[in-house]
Amino acid sequence: MPSKPRDRLGEVYGRLTVVRASDRRTAAGNCYWWCRCSCGNEREVPSDSLSHRLRKKKNITECIECSRELTTEAVCDKNDREENLRRKQAQINRKNLVGKVPDQWLKLPLTDAHAREIGVKKFFRGTYCLNGHLSPYRINGGCLACNRAE
Ligand SMILES: [Zn+2]
Ligand SMILES: [Zn+2]
Repeated sequence: MPSKPRDRLGEVYGRLTVVRASDRRTAAGNCYWWCRCSCGNEREVPSDSLSHRLRKKKNITECIECSRELTTEAVCDKNDREENLRRKQAQINRKNLVGKVPDQWLKLPLTDAHAREIGVKKFFRGTYCLNGHLSPYRINGGCLACNRAE
């Protein structure tokens, strides 16, 4: 007989509150607990994922839907931040290039994502390609000067 699991009813882990024991056991013999998320969903969680300690193994602190939402939000935020930085950097690069490159390059979108946003195929970040060209880029196609040289 496996030892009786520690009673966790009522314990709170992040958004989850333990509401009842489950009959399910992990391969290692740990029990599962049914937990109610603050959003109202329930999720069956193995007891070794319910912890307040920070560990390598990820603790579970919300239902599947909430964790999916949190991940998407985090990814979007990160992408937005990175894209904003890219655009800011491109603006700075281009400011330093006024008069040194064709004016129409400076009217192109700032980044690949910016070009897609406004439905244009070329963009100019004011950066040099690996072959040392200062040139606009084509979305998905890389440096225009490189393409011409091929
Ligand atoms: Zn939830
Ligand atoms: Zn090039």
